[in-house]
Amino acid sequence: MTNRPLATFTLLTFWLAACGGTEPEAPTSTIVAYEGATLITGDGGPPLGGGVLLVDDGKITAAGLAANVTVPEGATVVDLTGKTVMPTMVDLHGHLGFIQDLSFDYANYTRENIIDQLNRYAYYGVGTIVSLGTDPGELAFTIQAEQQAGTLGGARIHTAFRGIARPNAGPGAPTMRQTALGASTAEEARRLVSEIASTNADFVKIWVDDRGGSVDKLAADLYQPIIDEAHTHQLQVIAHIFYQEDARELVEAGVDGFAHLPRDVEMDDGLVAAIVENDVFVMPNLSISERGQHTAPPSWLSDPLLLESVSPQVVSRIEASFENRNPGSASAAAESYAAMQQSLKKLAAAGARLVLGADTGVQDHIHGFMEHRELELLVEAGLSPAEAITVATSAPAEVLDLNTGLLTPGKRADFIVLNANPMYGISNTKQIAAVYLGGQELDREALRSAW
Ligand SMILES: [Zn+2]
Repeated sequence: MTNRPLATFTLLTFWLAACGGTEPEAPTSTIVAYEGATLITGDGGPPLGGGVLLVDDGKITAAGLAANVTVPEGATVVDLTGKTVMPTMVDLHGHLGFIQDLSFDYANYTRENIIDQLNRYAYYGVGTIVSLGTDPGELAFTIQAEQQAGTLGGARIHTAFRGIARPNAGPGAPTMRQTALGASTAEEARRLVSEIASTNADFVKIWVDDRGGSVDKLAADLYQPIIDEAHTHQLQVIAHIFYQEDARELVEAGVDGFAHLPRDVEMDDGLVAAIVENDVFVMPNLSISERGQHTAPPSWLSDPLLLESVSPQVVSRIEASFENRNPGSASAAAESYAAMQQSLKKLAAAGARLVLGADTGVQDHIHGFMEHRELELLVEAGLSPAEAITVATSAPAEVLDLNTGLLTPGKRADFIVLNANPMYGISNTKQIAAVYLGGQELDREALRSAW
């Protein structure tokens, strides 16, 4: 049909219109008009009730109030009355390939498993995921190239390739630790950054953490050359941190983003001001820390949405992980979490760049589902639903200059259709009716039945 000469096509349509009577008119335009939904555009602006979204060839061509958008004649109309539409999420902090049903292991890092996980993200409305520093080898880049060529679907993968730490002092989980590159000297650190820069990596990830005194922490003698070298290659550096003092020194050293909030103390005003002044982006990464304070299974574990992608055995295993917890460590975690909430409030009030980073893909932290939990926790900590959605859509997209995360003309048509409006309760982001990536509706039912 696409190669049919226009004249024939028009004539056929005319004939159908003239003789068909009740026959529906064949679309004469490639444009699809989504009508009647409330549009949350992702830039923090007010929702547009009864909006119209026009999509052509995978891109948004118009988004606005019905009165301001002309639906071209011949467009295919999709009635979304009563629904809410928001951009798909962009998560700058995930880990791909390690979880497989009950197992959490480096051995699960296969093409098949990564593609399955990209589908899980997409299923829940996460359209873009950054795998943050735990991708050994070429696999993530191969998958990315296939997605860009249009031969593979799922959430679009971006990767920081292998991050850098002191030898054997990278990711907390032992099975992920071997993916990090180890640096002992400034020269070595610079060489590793060049190696990362020779790939298609989007970031340089560093781990600045002594894991409670159990490993050698990456210090300024190594992260300063890493940051400097990365910047000569136009690469941004994202630091995993734990301590406020490290955060402060990293800002001075020119770090571009943080994968966590400090977890030792509430951030002081000086650090908040330095983060804003230096335009450092921050992933609050609340959901992973919030878990630590519970001594009984939290309520999200009984959310039916979780069971759409994981087996009851996985849920039971996660439930069991909350039993027999040391009350002392739980109350320490609660104290640390309360400090993180306060830090987040301060950052938001100061106008810092907050971006979604949910750390999904570490053990029992479910791809796609926990991004919604992160939104709930952002709101619980004091952000408005509109702010939380911006944190999860346009703000992270801007960090990587991605053509997604906003319902505005020219952006890729990556959006979620919701049965309820998250402005009235952020948990409504989980009321997913449909997910579209590049204008194509995801077959969620097929994915769900395969799981
Ligand atoms: Zn992580």
